Amino acid sequence: MSMDWFYDLPNLARADPEIAGLIKKELERQEYGLQMIPSENFISPALLEALGSVLTNKYAEGYPRKRYYSGFDFVDPIETIAIERAKKAFGVPHANVQPYSGSPANLAIYLAICKPGDKIMGLNLSDGGHLTHGWKTSISGMLYQSVPYHVDENGYIDMDEVKRLAHEQKPKLIWVGATAYVREFDFEAFGKIADEVGAYLIADMSHISGLILAGAHRSPVDHVHAIMTTTHKTLRGPRGAMILVTRKGLEKDPELAEKIDKAVFPGLQGGPHENQIAATAVALGEAMRPEFREYGAQVVKNAKAIASALIGRGLKLVSGGTDNHLVLVDLTPYGIGKGVFASEALEEAGVFVNKNTIPRDPASPFYPSGVRMGTPTLTTRGMKEDEMRLIGDWIADVINEVKGYELPEKEQRAEYLKKFRADIRNNEKIRETGQKVRELCSRFPFYLGRG
Ligand SMILES: *Cc1c(COP(=O)(O)O)cnc(C)c1O
Repeated sequence: MSMDWFYDLPNLARADPEIAGLIKKELERQEYGLQMIPSENFISPALLEALGSVLTNKYAEGYPRKRYYSGFDFVDPIETIAIERAKKAFGVPHANVQPYSGSPANLAIYLAICKPGDKIMGLNLSDGGHLTHGWKTSISGMLYQSVPYHVDENGYIDMDEVKRLAHEQKPKLIWVGATAYVREFDFEAFGKIADEVGAYLIADMSHISGLILAGAHRSPVDHVHAIMTTTHKTLRGPRGAMILVTRKGLEKDPELAEKIDKAVFPGLQGGPHENQIAATAVALGEAMRPEFREYGAQVVKNAKAIASALIGRGLKLVSGGTDNHLVLVDLTPYGIGKGVFASEALEEAGVFVNKNTIPRDPASPFYPSGVRMGTPTLTTRGMKEDEMRLIGDWIADVINEVKGYELPEKEQRAEYLKKFRADIRNNEKIRETGQKVRELCSRFPFYLGRG
């Protein structure tokens, strides 16, 4: 076992053994399972130290050299380094590193650019879009008039529809970005359309910002006015987000950077989380090193290897493959609403994926017809194509065990799921797969058992 503080938690274990014990269990779950939720990653022990530091004690409303309190000799340089690294890494003239997370960052963008009632365009939720891009249950869909666009039958964004809707509806703001989209974004085509109709084009590259920094996905910088990215996905930083303003954005509105800063604070947030900002600086430092280019390239190679392994076993993938870090398995050949069976059975085997809607999903978002899985964390652990082929095979084995389960009507669901859960706990094939998963993970230690 590792002697690292983040495993032993020496102080916490004494002060609050209940919480310490659960954190240790969670660390073991992460270490000995295959973490394939594509929005997750493992951050380095160096980042954990920054995140767990005394910086969390500091109130820092305002921006470097423009604060409301005292005591900024060390926190100002830290936030400034984070800002400068963000600007350098992405090649933009302005960065705000204070957003608490992606959803509030997107809200700050609305606040800077739109008025309530304005029209906004984003990718439809079940086509892979994010809640904050105008979905009805999100505040973005309540405050603004949402005009969703979709993917075509091959799983690519329907650019003809984007163009037609933009010209018809004249939105104030267009989002390009997604949470469950497996193809590359054509930022240039989006940029042309936004320019034709005078809309602000904002890239939400939360899922792919690490790939962009690694050169494994094209960059939106020349084509959009601003960019939002979470820092905790492929970028491999702490939970958090940043908003970047591009040269094109400053040409459209020379005050855009100030508007964004004002929207984040005082518009939406109070004191920033300086421990998180320090960890973001460290993450950006890591992402600018040459090894990160290899990392990004390997993430994509690994996702392609998983995709071919699954296709080889007869599974259907949305869009038939992937260009990035994730694949979406379409389970409708076995019936509708089967994502829950696949994801729970995989969890039983120590493989963590998420049930997900597929484009034109005939089922509801809570019982969707797909599962989404990705390779950022496995790649961080050092796994490569050989491991992906094994994992793809195991995933197919597990799905094969449960594809016959049928979601009953609402009233009978609880009972049925209870029986299903007992079945998967007693399933020999799933148990065997679980053992193989644990063995494989032990061969790729990340936090535990390195020395
Ligand atoms: C993850 C994500 C967000 C939201 O980030 P949170 O930190 O979960 O609030 C927004 N947009 C996209 C495209 C995302 O993938």
